[in-house]
Amino acid sequence: MEDQFQRKIEYARISVTDRCNLRCRYCRPDHQEILEHKDILTYEELLQICEMFCRLGIRRFKVTGGEPLVRHGCLSFMRSLKQLTGVKQVTLTTNGTLLRPEISKLKEIKIDGINISLDTLNPEKYQKITGSYQLEEVLTSIDAAWEAEIPVKINKVLLPEDTMEDLWPFVERFMEKRKIPVRLIEQMPFGNQKVESAVLTGETILKAIRQSGRSAAKLDTAFGNGPASYYRIQGAVAPLGLIEAVHGNFCAECNRIRLTSAGWLKPCLYSPPTISLRDLLRSGRSEEEILQKIHKEIFEKPVSHHFGEKPSAEEMYRIGG
Ligand code: SAM
Repeated sequence: MEDQFQRKIEYARISVTDRCNLRCRYCRPDHQEILEHKDILTYEELLQICEMFCRLGIRRFKVTGGEPLVRHGCLSFMRSLKQLTGVKQVTLTTNGTLLRPEISKLKEIKIDGINISLDTLNPEKYQKITGSYQLEEVLTSIDAAWEAEIPVKINKVLLPEDTMEDLWPFVERFMEKRKIPVRLIEQMPFGNQKVESAVLTGETILKAIRQSGRSAAKLDTAFGNGPASYYRIQGAVAPLGLIEAVHGNFCAECNRIRLTSAGWLKPCLYSPPTISLRDLLRSGRSEEEILQKIHKEIFEKPVSHHFGEKPSAEEMYRIGG
């Protein structure tokens, strides 16, 4: 469907849990509150809502969290989601720590792609950022997904302390030796976080690449559903994506809505949630009534985010990244 600004909304990010086995410092507050099981949507409710989204023209779904793979039954849910009438694409975003044992099942359900979030290839830094020692497990998962020929992308948040020394290993390991695109994402401010600006911006990264004697040509092709701009780095077989989540001016092309694990509809990542689809479903409202409400909220999707001015009130783990 189209919203009031004639944007075609056809992509939904569905959070299946607010729980995660990592504690990435930019994502989760120290004293996080997690939802009780009764407060998160059941898989049946999630499918009911996704079916309604399909009726409104949403065709592509990303399963997210928290960490989606910590929730038991996530793969069966994705299988059922893939089978809904009208669904064209189901992808997953994961931190990769629990992925390896699931690769063959993901292949079997014909998952359309996996985004793996990984901020560093240095074990010490990995531990500092995530609070976990599972870097090797993540790297093995990435290799296993790649060998199984599942389309994989790496998402790396740009941290204030990052230098090009942190980025070159990503280029070498994923974009040169394997055909895995790497996307660099500007850190967004959520909750009470103060985001220090990163030394590296899209512009400085491209400049450094060119100064190293390699060309970085902008590509017209999109390699996903999101707002990344892509570059072909000389010598690399996979492209580099830049997602200027705070400073980028891409709200005019935004095609997405979000559903939190508690059942809130969020037409914009930045803005407060709108309606509780969980409460509407559990109070026995008719599907037609709920559909009309979803339609109204999507139609009224805000024109743009305001990350550049102040943080969004909710943390990312609650919303679903
Ligand atoms: N656990 C899954 C994963 O790691 O992909 C899904 C949820 S996670 C919240 C989704 C994505 O949001 C990750 O790539 C993570 O790095 C990103 N993210 C979390 N907080 C962020 C922030 N403050 N700014 C930018 N990206 C953020």
